[in-house]
Amino acid sequence: MSKKPIVVIGGGLGGLSAAISLLTLGEEVILFEQREKLGGKANTKTISHYRFDTGPSLLTLVYVFERLFARAGKHVYDYIPIVPLSPITHYWFNDGTNFASDSIEKFSDTLAAHLRVEKKSSLLISLIQKEFGISLMRYFLKNLSIP
Ligand SMILES: Cc1cc2nc3c(=O)[nH]c(=O)nc-3n(C[C@H](O)[C@H](O)[C@H](O)COP(=O)(O)OP(=O)(O)OC[C@H]3O[C@@H](n4cnc5c(N)ncnc54)[C@H](O)[C@@H]3O)c2cc1C
Repeated sequence: MSKKPIVVIGGGLGGLSAAISLLTLGEEVILFEQREKLGGKANTKTISHYRFDTGPSLLTLVYVFERLFARAGKHVYDYIPIVPLSPITHYWFNDGTNFASDSIEKFSDTLAAHLRVEKKSSLLISLIQKEFGISLMRYFLKNLSIP
């Protein structure tokens, strides 16, 4: 008896990565997407001369895409031009203050200057990195094949 295909509903980043992962496991996959275009929230909308991101403007966990493509025997950069930005983004607040978010080292300096503390922000950054490490191990790096 031939294997039944697995149906994935939704062609956003979640559905697409699930479908790719299942295909790499040797499953047959049928993906249903209700819209004309794949990508879900990861899309753009053009109004007049302006282009708006309808979801992600930046990829925070590039290695997740690298691993997904590598599992499928592909190289993500052959398909998606991923460009590192510096600064990554600029935050503006109502009171006029603003700061740029950048690599963790540069951001640590920016935060220290913004809070007018001498490098104490590095303590905050290490705490955040520690917490992120925990969520990485307990949540992000787990998947169907690594429970
Ligand atoms: C404003 C905004 C900014 C964001 N910024 C970032 C960012 O900077 N970096 C980042 O990493 N993430 C960001 N995110 C989060 C990221 O966009 C989402 O986590 C991700 O796109 C969700 O993917 P998904 O596949 O789970 O869902 P979706 O993208 O919502 O995809 C679901 C898909 O399923 C389809 N669908 C639903 N029901 C059916 C059905 N019954 N039949 C057929 N198809 C169906 C929908 O049409 C859609 O295409 C942002 C999100 C938003 C809204």
